[in-house]
Amino acid sequence: MKNFQNRKKQMSLRVAVITLLSALLCVAGLFKLRFNTQAISKSYLSVIDEDYANVRCMHQISHLMCEHQMLVFSHLLAEDPESRPRLEESASEIEGRIREQLASFGESMKNSEYESYYHEIYGGLIGYFKNVEVILSFSRKGETATASYYMNSSLKEYISGVDDSMDRLDQILEGDMEAARNKIEERTRANNRESVAILAVMIAAAAASVILCTRISEDAAGTDLLTGMANVDRFKKYGEGLEKNGRIGQYSGVAVSIRNFRFINQEYGSKAGDSVLQQFAGILTAALSPGEIAARNGADNYILLIKKDNVRDFLGKLKNVEVVLPGVEEKHRLDSRCGIYDARDDDTVSSIVEACVMALAEARKNNMADQMWFLQDMQGKILERREVLNRYTAALNKEDFQVYYQPKVDMRSNTLCGSEALVRWIRDGKVVPPMDFIPILEEEGRIVQLDYYVLEHVCRDIKGWLDAGMKPVKTSSNFSKLHLRDEGFADKVLNIIKRYGVDGKYIEVELTESSGYEDPEALESFVARMRSEGISISIDDFGTGYSSLSMLKDVDADVVKLDRSFLTGLERSNDLTSRLIANVVQMIKDLNRSVICEGVETREQVDFLKGVGCFIGQGFLYDRPLPKKDYEERLKSPVYGTVA
Ligand code: C2E
Ligand code: MG
Ligand code: MG
Repeated sequence: MKNFQNRKKQMSLRVAVITLLSALLCVAGLFKLRFNTQAISKSYLSVIDEDYANVRCMHQISHLMCEHQMLVFSHLLAEDPESRPRLEESASEIEGRIREQLASFGESMKNSEYESYYHEIYGGLIGYFKNVEVILSFSRKGETATASYYMNSSLKEYISGVDDSMDRLDQILEGDMEAARNKIEERTRANNRESVAILAVMIAAAAASVILCTRISEDAAGTDLLTGMANVDRFKKYGEGLEKNGRIGQYSGVAVSIRNFRFINQEYGSKAGDSVLQQFAGILTAALSPGEIAARNGADNYILLIKKDNVRDFLGKLKNVEVVLPGVEEKHRLDSRCGIYDARDDDTVSSIVEACVMALAEARKNNMADQMWFLQDMQGKILERREVLNRYTAALNKEDFQVYYQPKVDMRSNTLCGSEALVRWIRDGKVVPPMDFIPILEEEGRIVQLDYYVLEHVCRDIKGWLDAGMKPVKTSSNFSKLHLRDEGFADKVLNIIKRYGVDGKYIEVELTESSGYEDPEALESFVARMRSEGISISIDDFGTGYSSLSMLKDVDADVVKLDRSFLTGLERSNDLTSRLIANVVQMIKDLNRSVICEGVETREQVDFLKGVGCFIGQGFLYDRPLPKKDYEERLKSPVYGTVA
């Protein structure tokens, strides 16, 4: 168990680590993508911005230079000499603006690869302004021809020099911007490729973590929570693997259960029971050889696949097993029972489990047997079991189940005083007795529908008899202990009785005692509810279970039905048995319960029962369970003449 707890912790830790790593990877991937995008826009956009500002600045300068030249021309061509100072003023204002632009242009060119162009432009412009001074001085003096000469010669040269430099720089900057744009595009494409790669890694990480987590959860889903060993699902998967590999025929299926486990649970408490289950799981697992598997199959049942050659050894290891019970100093010897089936090559894991579980059930029935090998006649039982389960629901719907009635007789007056409803399955024209299907339905938890079906038919029949003016007697209906797991049990019984408008005095609920009750509180509250509604309760088969006396004390039943085995015991008679029956009858009566004896077959038994104070009997001496029609005849003539 400790190991299992550790494994559980390890599993949670692994899932947490995988999830954390995948999350971290995803976050890192997202950051990387964001960082890339930011880096691209920052580095290249600033280059483009700067280049663009420089180009704009040059365009501004060349625009202002044009204006400046126009003013110089106007100065030269001015007809009115008075206008020249205004023109000079404008020219010097534009010159100031050009110099301003030039200064900021110079600032941004400083230390750049383009600085030499700036110096060319700067030199050209300074030369230009100096020449303009000269030209204007000639123009002011009216020496227009000389001024024009300077203008066409040296000034033009400066202008074209500046223009050339600016054109070249313009082209270079345009080129740079183009290159930056191309680089951005390239980097964006690379970034996209990187994004796809990162996304792929993230998807791969997520897929890996899903696969890992699924494996871990599959591992957990295949584990029995109490013992930490495999559960039936994992066992079946393992067996199916062997089937596929064609190796299933090398194995034997072994079903194991602990003897008297219920006793351990009741005597030492459920915690001790759990501890025994865990210790025994450890013992079974330790007894395995490589390639074999052991699983818990609910409660104290285990199933195993053991290699045929190892089976004897394995069974030997289950002898003299000892476990520790909490709070008990001495070790407790644990006996187990096994059902074994040697698989054939064409077996499936399900058929193997079915066969070894069936062998175990046989071992259980034969109280002396610890180990029971599957016998071929059990095969018939398996087929019968399948037939029952496969055809059950359809049979209920088709009303193939018939209710028979067995009279209960007051042995003093030889008159009918009650009856018990006993179900029969009419299958393929044959009457199938309840013992052939009720235990199977009970084991599979499917009996409850049938019990309600029978009660419903009982109510319907009683209503019919009353409507026909007949005098029905109180009729008991059998209910499996499985009903007590359903909180609505009492309501369902009462609803059926009410639906048919039958007085509760005609109905009795029989609860079989032999298999023991898991939930005494549910039983007590059910009994109390029924009694408060005027419906009587009987404890069936009294004397077959080991908790008979406590049942008698704790369950407030109206009637106790002595099991048939009391009478068979009487046949092998000795005085002790008769005294025992006499005392049991007396005790039941002292507790204010009525007593009835099942299985009355002989006149001697009647005399004996009457002698010990048990006056109601049910048995073949009076009537077998009768089909409805025959029972109706009995209702019409309720006195037994011939047997008396
Ligand atoms: P049970 O409730 O103890 O019913 C009494 C059984 O003893 C009946 O068997 C009856 O036929 C048999 N019996 C009665 N008198 C004699 C006799 O003198 N000698 C011998 N040898 N047997 C006698 P049956 O009808 O085969 O039913 C067997 C069991 O099946 C019942 O035992 C009851 O536990 C169960 N059963 C029958 N009908 C239902 C049902 O509707 N629901 C449930 N849950 N169980 C049912
Ligand atoms: Mg009964
Ligand atoms: Mg009985």
